[in-house]
Parts: sequence; structure tokens; C-alpha cells
Amino acid sequence: MIYQRSSALFQEAKKYIPGGVNSPVRAFKAVGGDPIFVKEAKGAYLYDEDGNRLIDYIASWGPLILGHAYAPVIDAVIEKAKKGTSFGMPTEIETELAKLAVSMVPNIEQIRFVNSGTEACMSAVRLARGYTGKDKIIKFAGCYHGHSDSFLIQAGSGAVTFGSPNSPGVTKGTAKDTLLAEYNDLEGVKNLVQANQGEIAAIIIEPVAGNMGCIVPSNEFIQGLRALCTKEGILLLFDEVMTGFRLGKGGAQEALGIDADIVMFGKVIGGGLPVGAFAAKAEIMSHLAPEGPVYQAGTLSGNPLAMSAGLAMLTALNNTPEIFQSLADKTEYLHKGIASALSEKGIAHQINRYGSMISVHFTDEPVVDFTSSAKGNNETFKKYFHGMLAKGIYLPPSAFESYFLNDAISYADLDETISAVATIF
Ligand SMILES: *Cc1c(COP(=O)(O)O)cnc(C)c1O
Repeated sequence: MIYQRSSALFQEAKKYIPGGVNSPVRAFKAVGGDPIFVKEAKGAYLYDEDGNRLIDYIASWGPLILGHAYAPVIDAVIEKAKKGTSFGMPTEIETELAKLAVSMVPNIEQIRFVNSGTEACMSAVRLARGYTGKDKIIKFAGCYHGHSDSFLIQAGSGAVTFGSPNSPGVTKGTAKDTLLAEYNDLEGVKNLVQANQGEIAAIIIEPVAGNMGCIVPSNEFIQGLRALCTKEGILLLFDEVMTGFRLGKGGAQEALGIDADIVMFGKVIGGGLPVGAFAAKAEIMSHLAPEGPVYQAGTLSGNPLAMSAGLAMLTALNNTPEIFQSLADKTEYLHKGIASALSEKGIAHQINRYGSMISVHFTDEPVVDFTSSAKGNNETFKKYFHGMLAKGIYLPPSAFESYFLNDAISYADLDETISAVATIF
């Protein structure tokens, strides 16, 4: 494959956009080389600026669960655009999407739309603080909740003390209200809660993690978190920006059988347009402005184009829920195929999978948290990534990201992917 035009476009982009990209992971820094500029996409395939065809396993990082340029979404957006793109006034379609989302997801009564997953998580934390009257939150190392200040925190010195900023520009003042725990470590969370008795507003978690590869919570861990939150008056926040409308109609709450207090959405709910949302029982949501005192707003929130894309997407998923099982079946097929190709070559690996999320880690140990996931961020991963790319398979350009299967991927595509793995090592 040739990437001449992509590389030239990247050089040009770097002159005017920091690092040449508008979101860092796109730049290939973790794997080396120049990123690929996409020209268009349809179904399972990306077509880049050099005319290469790639089988896509990121689906715009999750939203395009039914494949690229899915006709009902595209048609809905085009029709809506002809009637105006933004009004700053209420529109009926916002209620239609809200009603549909609330009917699909367990345990929520009201939803507020925003423009990204970051906004959803940031606003949900503010709501949790306003509702409980407490300041601190607990997050898990390796979970990503967007780029808002309170989430860009790493463990401080001593696990029971406060976190410290992991990006310049995040203040120590902000960091002291975010406590860090390890995924799948219930004891660690209990210790934090005990050391900060009566001060914690919320525990925020990716209920199935996708930002350190795919990591599944143990039953004991996730059930223990629910029980602990209920006992201590802490709100349990499920960041379902990845898992929402992907693991099933009702997302991770339904799949794991756990009720969260506030649920955040993004990605699939926007059908490929910028949408985020957070939702809860009315008793909690009523604390939001204009009904309640917790302020939250957005000029383009509930934007008609974004709502029409989301409505077309959720309508399709609601009407054909068998898609979730068929995606999970394809993911299992991919898992088995890659595992046997790697085993045949004697390459140490761990594959984690849940529904249509899957990740391949080049390490011996089970990957259950950020520390074990980080061991797979190595030269073998880079070799694998570039080897697959050369065969026309586009995987996440980072060892810390889950793949997202989309419904347009066929078994022939999966076979092509599996046989590519066999040729790399
Ligand atoms: C992508 C993601 C976010 C951030 O969403 P953006 O739309 O990129 O701001 C938050 N949480 C999780 C779990 C995500 O995967």
C-alpha cells in the first residue's frame, strides 16, 4: 500500500493544527509512522486519500455500530438540514430522541443532551456533587471520561491520599477532589471511602472498560461497588459513552444487571454526529437548571441534525435488537480466529472481549486493570498494528483502545482479518 498523499496531507496539517490532528490518538504517536487521511467510507470499509481500502475496526471509535454512511442516518440528516441547522429554541425531535432513549435504557426517566462524551461526564459529576452536597469523586486508573480537568488525574503519593494532575494546566486544587482506585479492586475502593468518610459524591466508572483495551469487571467488583455506594450515600456513575446502545439496548446496566444512579452516553447515541447525554431518575435530574440549581447549558445542545442522526440510529437498533447478538457472534469468531493464529506462531497474548468490544494484548498475564494492560504496550503491538495496516486492516493505533465491530463487517472480512494476523509473525 502507498500512503504518499496521506503523508503529504499530514505535513500540511501540522503547519496549521497542533500535531496535525484535532484529537491526539489519531496522530499514530503510540505506534509510529504517519496517520492515514480518510477520504470516504461506506459500510465496513474506509477509503483513504491514496485510494487504499481498509477494513475498519474503530467505527469512528464506536458510534458507527451499523457501519459507515448508514443510509437511514444519512437520509435523516439531509432532510433535516434542508429545514435549518440550529435554532436555539426547543424542537420536537429532542423529545422524540429523549423518549426513545429512556424507553430503551433501564432505570432512567429523564435525559439531558450535550455535544460530547466529555461534556456528559463533566456535567454528570457536577450534578452528582450538587445533588449530594459533597465534593470528591473516585475514578479508576485507565478509565477515560473525556478531557475535563477532574478526570486528568493520576495516583498521587500513597494510594489513600489525593490524586495529582497528569496534564499541565490541571490545577492541584482540582486534583485533590479526584481519588484514584484500581479497576477490579473493591478493597482499594473501600479503603478510599473509609479514609474520606462522608466526603465522596460519586464513583465514576466505565462499567465495561474500553480505554485500556477491553476490560470486563468481575461480578464481585461491580456488585460490590453498587452495594458500597448504596450503603454510603454515594452516587454510582456509569460512563456508558462506549457501552451505551452497543452492548445491547440497555447498555452495560442491562448486560451486567446493575442499576447506576446517573448514566452518561456519547458515541452511538449521536449516530456519528456530535452528541453526548446524561440521564437518571427524575428525582436526580430535577436538580438541573432550569428546574433546579445545578447549572448546565449548551448553544448547540439538542441540535436538530445531531438529534435526527441519533433518532435514526436508535430507532434502527430498537427495531432490530438481534444486531447486538449478531455483533457479539462476529466478535467471538474474530477472537477465536486471532487467538488460534497467534497461538500457532507461539506469540504470547491475552484477548479480552465483551459483546462487540474486543482487544488483543501481547502479554502473558491476564489483563484486568491498567497496570496489566500497560504491559501490552510494547514493540509486538506496534509490529502487529503496522503489519495489519499493511494488509488493509485498520485497528486502533494504540494498545489501550478496544476495537469496535460494526454490523457491516462480514464473515469474509473477519476471515481476511484473521489470515492477515497469521502472516505478520
Ligand atoms: C470517548 C469516551 C469519552 C469522551 O467522549 P468524547 O465525545 O470524546 O468527549 C468519555 N468516556 C468514555 C468511556 C469514552 O469512551
